Amino acid sequence: HNKEQENVLKAFEWLTKLYHHLLRHTKEGKEGYNYLISRGFNDEVIDRFQLGFSPNSKEFIAEFLEKKGFHRQLMVKAGVLTVNDQNQATDRFRGRVIFPIRNHLGKSIGFGGRTISDQEPKYLNSPESDLFRKGSLLYNFDLARASIRKEQEAVLFEGYMDVISAYKAGIQNGIATLGTSITESQAKLLRRYVDTVIICYDADRAGLQASFKAAKLLKNVGCHVKVASMPDNLDPDEYIQLYGAERFKNDVITSSDTYMAFIIRYFRKDYNLKLEGDRIQYVERVLDELALIERPIEREHFLKELANEFELSSKVLDEEIRSRRQKIG
Ligand code: ATP
Ligand code: MN
Ligand code: MN
Ligand code: MN
Repeated sequence: HNKEQENVLKAFEWLTKLYHHLLRHTKEGKEGYNYLISRGFNDEVIDRFQLGFSPNSKEFIAEFLEKKGFHRQLMVKAGVLTVNDQNQATDRFRGRVIFPIRNHLGKSIGFGGRTISDQEPKYLNSPESDLFRKGSLLYNFDLARASIRKEQEAVLFEGYMDVISAYKAGIQNGIATLGTSITESQAKLLRRYVDTVIICYDADRAGLQASFKAAKLLKNVGCHVKVASMPDNLDPDEYIQLYGAERFKNDVITSSDTYMAFIIRYFRKDYNLKLEGDRIQYVERVLDELALIERPIEREHFLKELANEFELSSKVLDEEIRSRRQKIG
């Protein structure tokens, strides 16, 4: 079994090099290269992240792997080849730009393939396996680790495009969960290296909801959490293309909300604050959350904000929080 995994790793290492070579130096890879350039990437970035292209050929990759001595069955199992009705093995990622997904040691353990046309699905990732477990790996952790340690801060994105775009914009401590919200095992892994995590998910509905989940989870494992926000449903990559690196760093990353400020903003979407009843319910919900804050200064800060905004006395709100904290124990 372990022998098998070693074999797969070896094959992935070859494939990473091959896809990258094809993208950089061959006419078969030109359309993939052009696509990445059109997305604002350059050679330095393409090399750093070992981006590649899988040509739109039925046999090319299968033949390459066969020549290198990797068994077809194993490659099918590892998710790089698929077998069609005529029992022909073809590359699962053909016609796609390739993002090697590396583990914390920098070894490719899977691939993400993005279509360069408008083919569905937009992304194809390696299937789940013992080697490639989406829920416990963080994209780019290997390259970002030094910077994460140094800054005592990591920026968490939704996708590899965002990580790479942010890197180009000068953010070296970016990592990503692959589309899904962060899991407990990823959160714990991160906590071992870092105090502060800035969540910078897409600014659409799904991203906002995922931010909420991630914020709670990261807070629970003891991280100091901040949450970035962007206008108009943009994602970080789109924001950077539109407004540039400086504005991204200043107006999004550096200006990210504290945990509580985010929670307060997040809850707001469920209420119509023009209505008396909604206003009360909203305040109650925020108080529940405030009661969970351990630092008195932080509690006091948000309590004052709440008191001001809703024209309530700090004294009443403070009593509310006290009674809630007594119940929690
Ligand atoms: P792009 O800018 O190229 O459209 P993106 O990073 O904005 O890419 P999202 O749709 O926001 O893409 O998805 C974020 C991440 O979710 C991707 O990096 C990918 O890992 C994962 N993902 C998205 N769509 C799919 C899919 N259909 N199948 C598997 N994973 C997906
Ligand atoms: Mn998204
Ligand atoms: Mn996105
Ligand atoms: Mn995007």
